[in-house]
Amino acid sequence: MAAAVCKLFNNVKLDIGPSTDDGFYYDFDMEHRLAPEDFPAIEAEIRSIIKAGLPFERLEVSRAEAAAAFAGQTYKLERLADIPEGETVSLYRCGAFVDLCRGPHVATTADIGAVKLMAVAGSYYRGDEKNAMLQRLYGMADVSQEALDAALTRIEEAKKRDHRKLGKELELFSISEDVGPGLAHWHPKGARIRVAIEDYWRREHFRAGYEMIFTPHVGRSQLWETSGHLNFYREGMFPSMNLTEGEGSHASVDQYYVRPMNCPFHIQIYKTRRYSYRDLPLRWAELGTVYRYEKEGARLGLLRVRGFTQDDAHIFCTPEQIEGEVRSTVKFALHILRRFGFTDVTAYLSTRPEKAVGLPERWEQATHSLESALKAEGIAYHVDEGGGAFYGPKIDLKIKDALGRPWQLSTIQFDFNLPERFNLSYIGEDGKEHQPYMVHRALLGSLERFFGILIEHYAGAFPVWLAPEQVRLLPITAGQIDYVKGIEAKLREADIRVTVDADNEKLGAKIRKAQLEKVPYMLVVGGRDVEAGVVSVRSREAGDQGAMTVDAFMELLKVALKA
Ligand code: ZN
Repeated sequence: MAAAVCKLFNNVKLDIGPSTDDGFYYDFDMEHRLAPEDFPAIEAEIRSIIKAGLPFERLEVSRAEAAAAFAGQTYKLERLADIPEGETVSLYRCGAFVDLCRGPHVATTADIGAVKLMAVAGSYYRGDEKNAMLQRLYGMADVSQEALDAALTRIEEAKKRDHRKLGKELELFSISEDVGPGLAHWHPKGARIRVAIEDYWRREHFRAGYEMIFTPHVGRSQLWETSGHLNFYREGMFPSMNLTEGEGSHASVDQYYVRPMNCPFHIQIYKTRRYSYRDLPLRWAELGTVYRYEKEGARLGLLRVRGFTQDDAHIFCTPEQIEGEVRSTVKFALHILRRFGFTDVTAYLSTRPEKAVGLPERWEQATHSLESALKAEGIAYHVDEGGGAFYGPKIDLKIKDALGRPWQLSTIQFDFNLPERFNLSYIGEDGKEHQPYMVHRALLGSLERFFGILIEHYAGAFPVWLAPEQVRLLPITAGQIDYVKGIEAKLREADIRVTVDADNEKLGAKIRKAQLEKVPYMLVVGGRDVEAGVVSVRSREAGDQGAMTVDAFMELLKVALKA
């Protein structure tokens, strides 16, 4: 692409052109302002380069030779200077085009099946707004036109499923710039889904032996000093609020911080009494809302927000219990993820980095317990040697959504730091004080981000148990309203989320509206249905299901609610 751009336009200065997860880009500095209208000509030039089957030739050169090759290419010369002294400088030549590149490359341009240019956007040199604004041209390539078309179809499908678009169309959530960026509002329909998620989450946690706790959203500076957040995490926190206590000469100022994490509060509950080994394990869960200062550019609808509710829990246990606790946590995570349709799970195990707190034997036991839990559950996993946080090893679970896109959801993270900092202890069998193991874990991550992922995974067509509106009653004329109201009351009594569309519209229009709003079941009621004491059932996926009694429909619904 860079060779084509250089051929078609004058005075092109090249910066870098890496591959990305879904394609590649190249940054150019040039007078001509690239626009989508230029894409066909650039693509045609690319096709002729591909057709020529030009070999990519690797050249290892001295710095002086490289500098000579890039005379006048200021960005390239600066990038060349970035390469540490003593490291090999390699160039790749393809026809007349030479680039500074680490490689590797395909053998010849003929190995490239198909290329499509996707977009052009401004991009500051080295990502710094003080530098020149370059033009970033994005493209995609694949081994064949068919493979590229399939990838483009997936992108189109992803656009259709974009949770920001569907969130608006289905009236699920919004983000108000007046309130502040990255702060989500759950609308009634979104809130119904959230309540369904939370109800399920709480019930399953109680069943799994967790207790629920509720803790404050703000805490004094001394708490955050003890936890270390003010030292190590300050740039991720909202600035402090100063509260004046007392008056006149007795006045003192307390600094409060809105919390970026729930852990210090859970620890405060732990510290209110003494525990013996017999009291452990403690599993304390909270849908804990936290606030973090995410940089402006990094936010993406619900996927990166500044205020969010973690499905958090902390486990405090003894060394004897840790293996069992980790194993049941992994099992529990898989159980919860499965309920939301996520069955393709891959784990990432991060082990001890060079700089770490905590006894080596504790790291060993913790890491071993994480790995053996993954083995026992038969989950494919990758080991990131030395990739753990300084305070403990962890497992991250990534799922694949309906489009095959990976998302990291669950995390199970040991902490050898906070028990030390807060001086946590329990009395062991030996009558002596010991430090408990502490594990942080979140299974869905945050409800906001999880909701964004769910919207895209289901393309807004939520399964019956999550759907904000499960059943819609469609009377054909006003004559059926009373009958329909009776059915509505009966369904509502059974905790079914049901509404009546009593608008004076044609049935076809009502059905289309319910389809667009992705309501799983429509119950059509005409004069004959009233006489026969039935409803005509239409399902979102399977269409007409025929007439049945309300009781028969409720049996059908019971089965659908489990799916
Ligand atoms: Zn925590």
